[in-house]
Amino acid sequence: MERRGTDPAGLRLTVLGSSGSYPAAGRACSGYLVQGGGVNVVLDLGSGSLASLQEHLALTDIDAIVLSHRHPDHWLDLGVLATAWKYGLGREGLRVHGTADTRAKAEELLDGLAPTFDWTDVEPGDELHVGALTLRFSRTDHYVPTLAALVTDGSSTLAYSADTGPAWSFTSFGEPIDLAVCEATHLADVEAQGVLHLSGRQAGAMARDAGVGRLVLTHVSPGVDAGAVRDEAAAAFGAPVDLAIEHATFAV
Ligand SMILES: [Zn+2]
Repeated sequence: MERRGTDPAGLRLTVLGSSGSYPAAGRACSGYLVQGGGVNVVLDLGSGSLASLQEHLALTDIDAIVLSHRHPDHWLDLGVLATAWKYGLGREGLRVHGTADTRAKAEELLDGLAPTFDWTDVEPGDELHVGALTLRFSRTDHYVPTLAALVTDGSSTLAYSADTGPAWSFTSFGEPIDLAVCEATHLADVEAQGVLHLSGRQAGAMARDAGVGRLVLTHVSPGVDAGAVRDEAAAAFGAPVDLAIEHATFAV
């Protein structure tokens, strides 16, 4: 198959899955295809996102997979990708990066990762290079070690919050962000419960304070009114925001 999705003009984000915690009917959990500089990087690979990915990219064109943390809704499709990569495609050595405890879970699930996957642990502050793209990582405010990611091609910059509570901010990256994909799991009326996720209001306020250019909300829990999450985020952000919906594409 012809190699697709390598538009040289800036970064492009495609949403593969955006349901928070578990997939809603007909939806998929967290997964994002980031393309730029001629390479294809997959950020998170939650349940259902592997099927979405193949609407946009041949599996053999994945250059690297980056997993934010070990909660199942962010990586479990790696297990079935292993089957596709090994038996369906007869390949080895797919590059994967994630936290050490995500690796431990994956090793247990798959009875080992090599030679199908070439896994390298990542930690906060690490810098990765995938072709022309540079990725940096920041530990968020979540229940297990969780890495937000910043991706740049040198001209435009995209950031992904992964999962986080309100004690983390996009400002931790210390550089301007053109487009931020931020979790917004619930509405503001849940804030007092102290869960380590964000409301739409918190996501909007945090992105505003960080000077984010454009805000895309994701990880809304099934059963939560996504339109209401968007509205309270937009009010706090001070500008319209978008909801990440499967197969939506954003030019950065
Ligand atoms: Zn999580």
